[in-house]
Amino acid sequence: MQTSFSQAQLADPATASSEKILRACVHCGFCTATCPTYLLLGDELDSPRGRIYLIKDMLEGAKPASPAVVKHIDRCLSCLSCMTTCPSGVHYMHLVDHARAYIESTHRRPLADRLIRALIASVLPYPGRFRLALRAAKLGKPFLPLLRRIPSVGERLAAMLELAANVARARRSQKDARATTGPSAPKARVALLEGCAQPVLKPSINAAAMRLLARAGVEVVTAKGEGCCGALVHHMGRQAQAHALAARNIEAWHAEIERGLDAILITASGCGTTIKDYGFMFRNDRKLAEKAARVSAATKDISEYLVGLDLPAPARPMGLSVAYHSACSMQHGQKITEEPKKLLRAAGFIVKDVAEGHICCGSAGVYNILQPKLAGELRERKVGHIARTRAEVVATGNIGCITQIAKGFADRARAGGTAAPPVLHTVELLDWALGGPIPDGVTPAGSRGA
Ligand code: SF4
Ligand code: SF4
Repeated sequence: MQTSFSQAQLADPATASSEKILRACVHCGFCTATCPTYLLLGDELDSPRGRIYLIKDMLEGAKPASPAVVKHIDRCLSCLSCMTTCPSGVHYMHLVDHARAYIESTHRRPLADRLIRALIASVLPYPGRFRLALRAAKLGKPFLPLLRRIPSVGERLAAMLELAANVARARRSQKDARATTGPSAPKARVALLEGCAQPVLKPSINAAAMRLLARAGVEVVTAKGEGCCGALVHHMGRQAQAHALAARNIEAWHAEIERGLDAILITASGCGTTIKDYGFMFRNDRKLAEKAARVSAATKDISEYLVGLDLPAPARPMGLSVAYHSACSMQHGQKITEEPKKLLRAAGFIVKDVAEGHICCGSAGVYNILQPKLAGELRERKVGHIARTRAEVVATGNIGCITQIAKGFADRARAGGTAAPPVLHTVELLDWALGGPIPDGVTPAGSRGA
């Protein structure tokens, strides 16, 4: 694609990077076939190619983002399915990240939009505030029908409350969130991201990961000072906040790298995709560029790391059928497709692939709060495909997908009286197979729990 940026514009590193990306696009349109929003809306402007044109026009003209551009970029899930499909290697993720930051710095959103975004950005990345918000969400549940009637903001607030209440219900037992003792003579030393929303919603995930690692002789540390990776606000274009959160993690993990670290492990693939991109995000930061690159290079999804370990044989015969949902950030963002399935099979599970597996479930960070209608349509589509596998359990590697899919099944169960399969993180199933506690919702016989 031809571009016409001035030399002055190209002096800005973000614009220079986007210009290179734009030039790589050959307008072939292959990406439109695998874009979830194009699939739902059929509008070229809601396809990757259409958005690339809109971004090009906005950046070349150096003009404030128009409401039309904002609408179509906001509808993008950042699922990166287009990057998997593109034959020309167009780095859409970096382009849309730049566009989102540009929008936030040049466009004043309507008040309702500003309020909901400010609420998300000031609550979700901070576990203490998020815990309080979940309690408030429980109290606010009876007001959902009223809330939905408030124009513009009501529907999105209701979506937030519904998701939170659903997860709160799923957390009936935290028995498996017990601390675990590390190996006495460790073979390796890793840092495990504690993060922000996941430990509040489902602490059993990291507890399972720690037990798995301990069984394989790996010492696990939590880097002092680490926290939210910044992904949630990064995808909202809040660059300063995202960079501040990321910078804190880079310093914390770099200190551990200096002490001797084999890997930084992530149990939420949405976070992993962003942390693996810290090197790019801080490429022009004189103080942090090198440290950020080292952190990104050391980062691995938990499944990526576990597959290279000598895990013990399953402690019990499993034989349970598992529908594996590959999160977009796992398959498109990090190109990890086979590892989780390989681990599940080795642990004795029968893995079932889900039709249309490359299409997003609609979670996409906070997309299900900001775009509840589209997210709901994608969730229904995904849950339908999963249900058709008739698997007893659903496994995935991202807390956002767990929340989203569990809500879809819970809605179906309420409407039709059908049982909802437990939706679990892959490591919860692996840990159980290797001697850990039974995950919530699974019964010892393998059938569905309450
Ligand atoms: S990231 Fe996903 S939703 Fe956005 S343009 Fe690409 S395929 Fe479409
Ligand atoms: S597939 Fe790649 S090259 Fe083709 S239109 Fe989409 S982004 Fe451009």
